[in-house]
Amino acid sequence: MLQQKIKELAKQYASEFIEVRHHLHAHPELSYQEFETSKFVQQKLTEYNIPFEVKAITGVIGLIEGKNPHSRIVALRADMDALPIQEENNVPYKSTKPGIMHACGHDVHTTGLLGAAKILAETKNEWEGTVKLIFQPGEEKNPGGASLLIKEGVLENPKPQCIFGLHVNPQLELGKLSFRDGKVMASADEIYITVKGKGGHAAAPNLTSDTILIASHLVVALQQIISRNNSPFSPSVLSITSFNGGFTTNVIPTEVKLMGTFRAMDEEWRFKAHDLIRRTTENLVRSMGAEVDLHIDVGYPTVYNHEGLHQHAKQIAKDFMGDANVEETEVRMGAEDFGFYSQKIPGCFFRLGTGNTEKGITHGVHTPLFDIDERAIEFGIGIMAYFGAMANPSY
Ligand SMILES: [Zn+2]
Ligand SMILES: [Zn+2]
Repeated sequence: MLQQKIKELAKQYASEFIEVRHHLHAHPELSYQEFETSKFVQQKLTEYNIPFEVKAITGVIGLIEGKNPHSRIVALRADMDALPIQEENNVPYKSTKPGIMHACGHDVHTTGLLGAAKILAETKNEWEGTVKLIFQPGEEKNPGGASLLIKEGVLENPKPQCIFGLHVNPQLELGKLSFRDGKVMASADEIYITVKGKGGHAAAPNLTSDTILIASHLVVALQQIISRNNSPFSPSVLSITSFNGGFTTNVIPTEVKLMGTFRAMDEEWRFKAHDLIRRTTENLVRSMGAEVDLHIDVGYPTVYNHEGLHQHAKQIAKDFMGDANVEETEVRMGAEDFGFYSQKIPGCFFRLGTGNTEKGITHGVHTPLFDIDERAIEFGIGIMAYFGAMANPSY
């Protein structure tokens, strides 16, 4: 039976792919600079006799055809980029690049998809349809590798009927997977504001427009946008995270710069809020006698898990991992560029348990001590291969 075979192959290849993960972990690359990683993925696909194309400079798109290649088309996605973090783990596979670390587990995602690719290629006479492998650049940084790949046609020729994406979760115990339907992660947009005024001597504020005071009022006013305009039933966050201006005690500066992030779970509210942020900023700053530059860098959309696909995926996951090992995951205000795919085709973004409280493997993603229990690699490979072989896009 195919399920049994995939399980056995995932077990058999586990140590080989733990080595693959060590290699990727030791050689992390920042967003849109995944040149060595891309080469490595291309070499592996060549080794497995899987044809591929390169898109968006470092993205690698592979195609594995099973029986009746046109009968069903399923996409599997992994991201490849690392973060500007100095690794503090003392492990043999520690990052060899100062200040760069695979602290979001994208090395694990790339490894998981390579392992799944090897298994799917080996079993291609035993399943129906085509599996499209998407190794994407730049998940951690706007505009998002997913959006670049979509512009370059990754969801066409052939057009996948559904897409799966896996993410490590150190807060979920080893051996478990977690799913949720509907909106699972927030949209994320960056806000950049410069308040520009006359400035001058601090002892004569009447002759200036006080950019510090105006910017302070603005921070408070922006905080009220969500509390007074957004539905209390739809989570949304606005955080001003940087406030920069002035350099001494007796000068009112001519410029104050603010930065922040805006997150939402509803695309309609998201763009309405952009207008409110713009209006509030311009009206308030002008009414207090200064000028303002505002830029909203539109980032990733919400990640939406299609209800039907979610139900189906959860059932497949239960068949593969056992009922007790499939859980419900929480909503997060973090963002993921997987949202770009799930806006276009039915998508399912789920989590792979990589934590182990007994062994103290609990550090969160995006921290210098993040690591995984590597026995998770076997499950990651297995479940991605199983979705590739078994997911039925008509549910
Ligand atoms: Zn991340
Ligand atoms: Zn990530």
